[in-house]
Amino acid sequence: MSNTTFEEIGRVLREHQQFVVLGHVRPDGDALGSQLALGLSLQKLGKNVRVWNEEGMLEKYSFLPRAELLTKPPATAEHVDVAIALDTAIQNRLGTTLAAVGSAKIWINIDHHVTNPGYGDLVIIDPSAPATGEIIFRLIKSQGLPFDHDIAENLFAAISTDTGSFQYPKTSARTFEIAAGLVREGDLDVGKISQQLYENYPRRRLELLRELLRTMRFSECGRIATFGLSLKTAAELGVIPEDNEGLIDHLRALHGVIVAVFFEELSDGKVRVSMRSKDERVDVCAICQKFGGGGHTLAAGARVRGTLAEVEEKVLEETREAVKRACVS
Ligand code: AMP
Ligand code: MN
Ligand code: MN
Repeated sequence: MSNTTFEEIGRVLREHQQFVVLGHVRPDGDALGSQLALGLSLQKLGKNVRVWNEEGMLEKYSFLPRAELLTKPPATAEHVDVAIALDTAIQNRLGTTLAAVGSAKIWINIDHHVTNPGYGDLVIIDPSAPATGEIIFRLIKSQGLPFDHDIAENLFAAISTDTGSFQYPKTSARTFEIAAGLVREGDLDVGKISQQLYENYPRRRLELLRELLRTMRFSECGRIATFGLSLKTAAELGVIPEDNEGLIDHLRALHGVIVAVFFEELSDGKVRVSMRSKDERVDVCAICQKFGGGGHTLAAGARVRGTLAEVEEKVLEETREAVKRACVS
């Protein structure tokens, strides 16, 4: 499936009235910020817009401007002219929002995951973009769509979180130019936004990290680092899913570590696997694809059936092989 143009998407946005903007399950800052930004721009264009995510707005992102616009999907399906999926590599990662769209004349798919198969009628997949928020900014600007402070702040949060605060390899000159445009034109207070994003965690998140570090293991001479979370520990600590976003970065940040893996036991008999790589030669997306998941070369995930111990063993075996191959090449 080849990409459509921003012009074609701009035309469709102007010509229709009823919209729904969706994002992936277990949302992150890029999904939520991009959804709100595009939803707000369409609203300012005079459109009727719903913005749905399976989990609704997360507590930690509830500071985002106009966060109340983003809700859980309704129980009964609704009909729209245009449904837009953002930052979602596989259509079923839209979760319960998918069934809530009774029908849509046109499906638009905007994403930066290289594994996105291009579902939908109008597709823009740009794997060079470090965040979907960057693509939304270019869409809004190139098509002269409404833009204001609230939209800018949502896009800044999307880009800041998905680039690891402008650190990950896909962060480019274009990313900084876009961020500069957001700060200048949106009159953003970067210190305040960053504090809300990165210095506002509940204490239980650090208590969770303490427990995760107790389970920390290394293999392949310290090149692979892992930790895991059982349902029992999660219940004892009273943590909620959003608490663990980003904790894997503590493993990745270690000297000598090439691959970091986080295993989280889920209540449906599966384990959520979250992987990070620091070396392009170790493609964690390829490893996750073997288990039905996907993502990016250096950051990927999968949900794998089995117990924590079973999934750890299977995924670690593949990871060891990939690291060995990279280290001899
Ligand atoms: P996470 O480790 O959950 O932060 O996810 C890392 C990257 O992999 C993100 O870009 C996700 O969208 C993607 N990803 C995570 N889980 C899956 C999955 N089950 N299928 C496809 N992509 C995934
Ligand atoms: Mn995402
Ligand atoms: Mn993203």
